Amino acid sequence: MIRKLLGWWRLRRAGRLEIPAALWDEAEAGLSFLGHLTPDERTHLRQLAREFIAEKQWSGARGLQLTPHIQVAIALQACLPILHLGLDWYAGWVGIVVYPGDFLIPRRIMDEDGVVHEFDDDVLGEAWYGGPVLISWFEQPQDAGGINVVIHEFAHKLDMKSGEADGLPPMHAGMSRQRWIAVMSEAFNDFQRRVDGGEETPLDPYGAELPTEFFAVASEAFFQTPELLKSEYPDVYEQFKRFYRQDPSVSA
Ligand SMILES: [Zn+2]
Repeated sequence: MIRKLLGWWRLRRAGRLEIPAALWDEAEAGLSFLGHLTPDERTHLRQLAREFIAEKQWSGARGLQLTPHIQVAIALQACLPILHLGLDWYAGWVGIVVYPGDFLIPRRIMDEDGVVHEFDDDVLGEAWYGGPVLISWFEQPQDAGGINVVIHEFAHKLDMKSGEADGLPPMHAGMSRQRWIAVMSEAFNDFQRRVDGGEETPLDPYGAELPTEFFAVASEAFFQTPELLKSEYPDVYEQFKRFYRQDPSVSA
C-alpha cells in the first residue's frame, strides 16, 4: 500500500515538472553512450529521470547555479544504471550536491600507530552512506578526463544498498553471490597487479584502490565503453549484464 502511494506521489510530483523536449534532446546529444537504447528504453529513461529530478533535493555548491540542463544531464546518467532496476534502488536518501568542477573534502584519518592525519582530499565526487551524493559538474565532459563522475558515484550508491561499500551490491534472484565475489575478486586482483606493475591500463587505475572503486570504475566502462570492459574482463561484463539487466554492447 505504502509502495503504491509512494509511486503515485512520485508520478504526481514528476507530472508537475515541465521539461521541454528540446532540453531532453540537448542533454541526450551530449551523452553518446545512450546510443544503444531502444526508443522504448529512451522514453523509460526520461520518465525515470523526470521522477528522479522531482524527488531528490538538489543544490549547487561553491556558487554553482543549478540549471535545468545540468539536472537533466545528471539525472539521465544517474538513471541509466537503474533503467531496468527501478528508482527504489536510490531510495533512502535525497540530497544531490553539485560542484563546479573538482572540490576538496577535509579528511581525518588515524593510522595504525594512532597518529591522526588531517588533509584536504581533492575529489570529483563522493557518495555518502544514507546521505547525499556529491558530484562535480563539467561544462565540457572531456574536462573530467574520461571519468564519468555521475555513473561512478551512483554505482557506489547501488553498492551501498547492501550496507558497506565493498563492491558487492544486492544480488537479484537467480544471481550467485559466490560467483559475483569470485569473478570480481579475480578481476580486481589482476587489475591491481597490472596497475602496481606500472601498466597503462585502459580502465581508470583508480579502480585498483579498493574493490568498491573497481566496481564503480568497471560500471563506468560498462555503460560508456562496453566493448572495452568486455574484452578486458569478460566475466565481469557477464555479471554486470545480469546485475544491471542491460547489455550496452548491443545496439538498438
Ligand atoms: Zn569512487
